[in-house]
Amino acid sequence: MTTRTAKCRCGRLRAECEGEPTRVSVCHCLECQKRTGSAFAAQARWPEGQIRLTGEFKTWERTADSGRSATYRFCPECGSTVTYSNEGHPGMIAVPLGAFADPAFPPPRFSVYEHRMHPWTAVLGAEVEHSSTVSSERFPDAREDEPIAPGRAAS
Ligand SMILES: [Zn+2]
Ligand SMILES: [Zn+2]
Repeated sequence: MTTRTAKCRCGRLRAECEGEPTRVSVCHCLECQKRTGSAFAAQARWPEGQIRLTGEFKTWERTADSGRSATYRFCPECGSTVTYSNEGHPGMIAVPLGAFADPAFPPPRFSVYEHRMHPWTAVLGAEVEHSSTVSSERFPDAREDEPIAPGRAAS
């Protein structure tokens, strides 16, 4: 079985992820932009039993738009977030795709929060499902704090 290892920048905190991720996605939300320091975030998700976190970490919690809490685990030394979880996805752990430092990592199938998308970005691929909110079947009661901009509706 494939095992991939995500590491913080200094290498002290690592997440070993067993098997293929259940979901690979890109999120354009403002919180993900702030977390990554980039224009969007890419992440992969596994059931928590398939992820082994080793090394020292700190946690930070915030309340998402959905009203649910999200918990981030990051290296106290270099500050990189290596895993995070959200109450909306019980039993699942997300790992920032960049932490694998692997350009051959499976591409995203979902692009969410596209109403926050920088106009110069695009998530390519015929298979990609685009949406302007979090995935509705996974977050049936998710709500948005601001209206969705016209022209960026889910397709
Ligand atoms: Zn580190
Ligand atoms: Zn996001």
